[in-house]
Amino acid sequence: ILLVVGIGGALLALLGSFYASGRALSPIARSWERQRQFVGDASHELRTPLAVIQSNLDIVLTHAHEGVMDNLEWLNNAKAEARRLTRLTEDLLTLARADSTMTPLRNERVDLQKIAEGVHDAYAIYAESKDIQFLLERSADDAYVTGDADRLHQLFVILLDNAIKYTQEGGRVTLREEVTKGTIVVTVEDSGIGIDKSEQGLVFERFYRSDVARERETGGLGLGLSIAKWIVEAHRGRISVESTLGVGTTFRVTLPRAAGVHQAVEQSDTSR
Ligand code: ADP
Repeated sequence: ILLVVGIGGALLALLGSFYASGRALSPIARSWERQRQFVGDASHELRTPLAVIQSNLDIVLTHAHEGVMDNLEWLNNAKAEARRLTRLTEDLLTLARADSTMTPLRNERVDLQKIAEGVHDAYAIYAESKDIQFLLERSADDAYVTGDADRLHQLFVILLDNAIKYTQEGGRVTLREEVTKGTIVVTVEDSGIGIDKSEQGLVFERFYRSDVARERETGGLGLGLSIAKWIVEAHRGRISVESTLGVGTTFRVTLPRAAGVHQAVEQSDTSR
């Protein structure tokens, strides 16, 4: 009996450790696979603009006897690709930093109303160039969060840039801020091309671009929304998307609200 119990116990222990290691290993394997895929995709995306720059500069060099004006087209192509490369490198660095825990976000009081106004002003010209009605709906209440102002600014830029980019001429984009007791809800609503139901869960993945977006050749890289998701989650918030193909898209961000100036003053008054 003792022998059977002993063997049974050993088998159970072995099975336990097998399952435990299986459970412990699979997330590591998954994360390794994700990382491998990311590096592969990133290298591919970096290689394309570099090749374009190189070939355009080669053409200019073979026409070295001509003046700059005669080679303007090639030089402008190279410049546009260099700009794309800069954006891509910045996005990749942001995501690499997001993956490492070595760069904590700043923890300051941030006025989201101010950020919304600033980004709205900055994007008004882009919207106007496409004859898009561009609205800003603010709440009368304070909209303070605790976090990193630069990153939150970047979040608004990503969502508004997409909304205008994926909306046809004459459409409408609305940036809305609603304040509840404990949260601030930011929605960016557009009347653009929309995202198919089957793709809505994928748009926050790195390098994901919908077929419709690819067809339009808007020059996107598919990294913006994965950066947006990281920023929101680093601020203990949530981001979601609702969309109907051909009708429009709404991105909704919910962030925890920090005490406003008045509330903060009241609190420090009562603590005296
Ligand atoms: P991109 O640089 O391609 O815009 P993002 O990560 O910001 O990358 O977005 C990923 C994909 O999600 C886009 O390529 C597009 O297919 C889709 N998408 C994002 N925002 C919108 C929007 N407002 N309307 C329609 N599709 C969108």
